[in-house]
Amino acid sequence: MQSLKHYSPLLLLSLILSSCSAQLSGGQAAFSTDTIKGVATIEAATPQLPTETVTAETIEPENQSLFDAVLCEESYCIYDAPALLESPLPADMNQIADVTYRYGTTQMGQREAHLGMDVSNPGGTPVLAAAEGIVVVAGNDDVTHYHPYEKFYGNLVIIRHELPGLEQPLYTLYAHLSAVTVEVGESVKKGDQVGLVGATGAAIGSHLHFEVRLGSMDYNSTSNPEIWLKPVINGSNLQTGILAVKVNNPNNIPIDSLLIIARPVGASPEKSRAANYGETYAKGIPSTDPIHEIALFGAIAPAEYEIIFEKYGKFYRTNARVESGKFTLASIDM
Ligand SMILES: [Zn+2]
Repeated sequence: MQSLKHYSPLLLLSLILSSCSAQLSGGQAAFSTDTIKGVATIEAATPQLPTETVTAETIEPENQSLFDAVLCEESYCIYDAPALLESPLPADMNQIADVTYRYGTTQMGQREAHLGMDVSNPGGTPVLAAAEGIVVVAGNDDVTHYHPYEKFYGNLVIIRHELPGLEQPLYTLYAHLSAVTVEVGESVKKGDQVGLVGATGAAIGSHLHFEVRLGSMDYNSTSNPEIWLKPVINGSNLQTGILAVKVNNPNNIPIDSLLIIARPVGASPEKSRAANYGETYAKGIPSTDPIHEIALFGAIAPAEYEIIFEKYGKFYRTNARVESGKFTLASIDM
């Protein structure tokens, strides 16, 4: 099997771009969701893209209680997934997030940076508490805003959680609900219904917008929900893994909102549909300590991957293995 490194950069770029545009245009037709334009407030947030020098020795996150390394190779480590949160949707409903609009991404600059993940489901589907906690918001954002834009979430619920291994509170946010079925101050257990899927606020088509905020309920404190959710079973009835990517970027090359590809090693061009297309986080999107990720692929099939992105005509790449139910952190040297 021929690997990507045997192609000329020009051919590879055209392959990447043509595949990407097909993916994005198809995805937009199928998954139109939040639609408010403008990024001024989000861009005003402090960029937190990792800039520190990272060596193979320091790739391991410090928080061992949540990220216990199962093994570390030169370019990646594998951890037990934190799995502090359960899916907020019933097991027989769609669990897979819209991959064309992942956390932190902008659909290649066409939309505002996404602060959560979207999971399409029919209106009226029960929305479930992702963990035990206390309801701190139950209503809508007509008066109090929880997003840079007004009336963005529609009907929403926010739950505050104290979770094992986390020193700070974690908040989960459930938005665009057709109905809210809990009240502020109520204690909920994991799996309790908190509302119903809808399309209120800035949503086209019914879906759950699910968000995580760490330490503070402020929208500058978001964290990628797929870090915390238990890895899901995909359409092939396969337990997936999570692939996060960090960079060693001593020269601070701008790497926001770039196409990034995780391609199974050995896949031929004909099988390039097996590649996962993602986007590095937009400027100002928080990455999560101690991971410091610049991109993340949730619900990714277990395999050996080559991970590639391009900046200023140069390709940056690394290899990493994704295992069922595990969390892989891959590191790319720039
Ligand atoms: Zn959303």
